[in-house]
Amino acid sequence: MSALLERFAGSPLRPIAEKVAEGRRLSFEDGVALFRSLDVLGVGALANHVREAKHGNTAYYNVNRYLNPTNLCWVDCALCAWARKPGVDGGYTMSIEEAVAESAAGWHDGITELHIVGGLHPSLPYSWYLDLLRALKARFPGVHLKAWTMVEIDWIARVAKQDVATVIRDLREAGQERDAHEDDRHPRRPRLQNDNAERFVGGGQDEDLGRPVGAGQQRIVGRQAELREQIDAIVADLEASE
Ligand code: SF4
Repeated sequence: MSALLERFAGSPLRPIAEKVAEGRRLSFEDGVALFRSLDVLGVGALANHVREAKHGNTAYYNVNRYLNPTNLCWVDCALCAWARKPGVDGGYTMSIEEAVAESAAGWHDGITELHIVGGLHPSLPYSWYLDLLRALKARFPGVHLKAWTMVEIDWIARVAKQDVATVIRDLREAGQERDAHEDDRHPRRPRLQNDNAERFVGGGQDEDLGRPVGAGQQRIVGRQAELREQIDAIVADLEASE
């Protein structure tokens, strides 16, 4: 028995592991089972088996650099040891120029992405977010700008008094890159993400659970509900690339 199959002895993923070991195509339902599996390391082991079979020991890396242009946040998440409330020692907000200078310090050509995360800043105007992207894109034109989490984008939309889809469009025009999972062949993906963005961030009443849920829970529920559509899109990707 191969080491891969030994790893999945007695596991519900064993039938999928057998297909993977034999190089057979997985079914749609296999995709659903993998998404739902709590054996995250097992799913990773299966994916790595396929990766090594296709590419040997070669790996590709995204050299990513973090930029935190502000740590001011009006929210007070219990898990967060990083953000500062306005007026508390240690809080900071960079000007656009400072953020570009911070990004440029120690810059080298191997850097391929700037990953921008901050807090939900109580007073920065909408233009600051767009101007920051424009300035970074002008200074580092070849770099992928991965900018802000969904909760931040929801906040930026509130600052802008615009809907999330409009704000994402504005951010993209200013330099934020498209998500790696989107492409022109599957235009539903941006729609899914925008729908998710609106649903994730605020929490709300969950119809399946029949009770209010917080933002994080809502995100998980939203993901489950769209699982089949997401797997459909992955299958369409695979078929298009063959
Ligand atoms: S919203 Fe983000 S930055 Fe603000 S307190 Fe929560 S985790 Fe920290």
